[in-house]
Amino acid sequence: MINLTISEALEKLNSGEISAVELTKCYLKRIEKYGADLNCYITTTPERALADAAASDARRAAGTALPLDGIPIAMKDLFATRGIRTTAASRMLENFVPEYESTVSQKFIDAGTVLLGKANLDEFAMGTFSKTSFFGAPVNPWQMEKRLTAGGSSGGSTSAVASGLAIAATGTDTGGSIRFPAAITGMVGMKPTYGLCSRWGCVAFASSLDTPGPITRTVDDAALMLSAMAGHDPKDSTSSTHGFTCNGPLEPILGDGKKLRVGVIKEFTNVEISNDMKTLFDKRISDLKSMGAEIVEVSIPNILDALAAYYIIAPAEASSNLARYDGMRYGLRVEGHDIYDTFKKTRAAGFGDEVKRRMIIGTAVLSSESYDVYFMQAARVRRMIADSFNAAFEQCDLIICPSSAGTAMPLDSGLSPLEFYALDLFTVAMNLAGIPACSVPCGLAQNGLPLGMQVMGRRFDDMRVLQLAKHIESVASVDNRPTTIMGK
Ligand code: GLN
Repeated sequence: MINLTISEALEKLNSGEISAVELTKCYLKRIEKYGADLNCYITTTPERALADAAASDARRAAGTALPLDGIPIAMKDLFATRGIRTTAASRMLENFVPEYESTVSQKFIDAGTVLLGKANLDEFAMGTFSKTSFFGAPVNPWQMEKRLTAGGSSGGSTSAVASGLAIAATGTDTGGSIRFPAAITGMVGMKPTYGLCSRWGCVAFASSLDTPGPITRTVDDAALMLSAMAGHDPKDSTSSTHGFTCNGPLEPILGDGKKLRVGVIKEFTNVEISNDMKTLFDKRISDLKSMGAEIVEVSIPNILDALAAYYIIAPAEASSNLARYDGMRYGLRVEGHDIYDTFKKTRAAGFGDEVKRRMIIGTAVLSSESYDVYFMQAARVRRMIADSFNAAFEQCDLIICPSSAGTAMPLDSGLSPLEFYALDLFTVAMNLAGIPACSVPCGLAQNGLPLGMQVMGRRFDDMRVLQLAKHIESVASVDNRPTTIMGK
């Protein structure tokens, strides 16, 4: 059962071959067996899952099945879930039980899914290996004995889906947190257009960049998940009315003489990447050509400055968003001798080092001496990057690029903060521009580990992004079931 895609599972559920309770029990058993080793869940919700599944079976029997009825999923522990602990992987929220449901998780309830648990992540989604989690890092199920990172910040989600401990999961992507972890675990990670999925009830990191999206084993599954997640939400002022609907398999956009111009970013061709990534990326380009795509070189002149701009804008917004954790209203509180001392002691104890670093950087770049030279400059770079993408999309329909320079690294690689930040080179520009980007497996490296590449499109061109990603998925034809755990 764990090898079923969402649409295959739905078919079997609809035909009565399997029940939602059976499917859920199968996942719960695997979570019991492997969950602790992989550390992909912060909280598991077996009772809720079984109740969800029973309700789903009842709906199906009554002929009122919902679009994703009975599909067992993991929810990144950044989405508030009513009555279920929501930690953002921080000590600050270790015991926080929300009284409300995030829009995205509510939409999954409305679609009939089964909640298996809350997936591990970097603390407040700040990080790249999920190592900043207060609950310890999740592990990549590929070559498990090597203890590789499942990426971050949605590393618990990718670890869970890659290892068959959930059919699919939600993630959030502020600077690459869906796409990077998906790429290095062999999964599909879709960062939709900013505003397509509501941020309401999702713990805020950098509000102008935060983008909820799905992590799945196949591109078709990503489209089904996105369909459930997307939609206008009056509770999020940046939510769009565009919406996204997909009920069945994605339609081809190549073949049969169809015309498609696919852009390759000139500035990225000089960036050092592994030989494997280069070989696989070039292979997929020639595949696309032979399928009839026209490959054009496009220029995003400031794209290499995206990293610097991101690491000013994201911490600036974070420093403002995280000011709410002061021990007064909710979360951890460490008593001091007066109110300021309580603030100080609470924050010192509640936040980890990386979160503190971001708050310090963010506060510094927003200070009156630095605002013009840092924050405003970064905002200008951001605008130029968005404009360059718009100009590039005059010359092509979609753009492709690698998702990362290389394969998953060991969790104990001992990278400095700056080295971690540099890993986001291929992903942050799309958040600054707000455009959709999907990472799709493009092959296995010589060391047997998966690599991914991205497809980007104009704002709200999410459908075509997924359509091209599906073509790449099918020519790359990666078996993305890690042998150690998917029992081949
Ligand atoms: N790795 C990036 C960071 O640390 C991106 C994180 C994210 O997208 N949430 O900020």
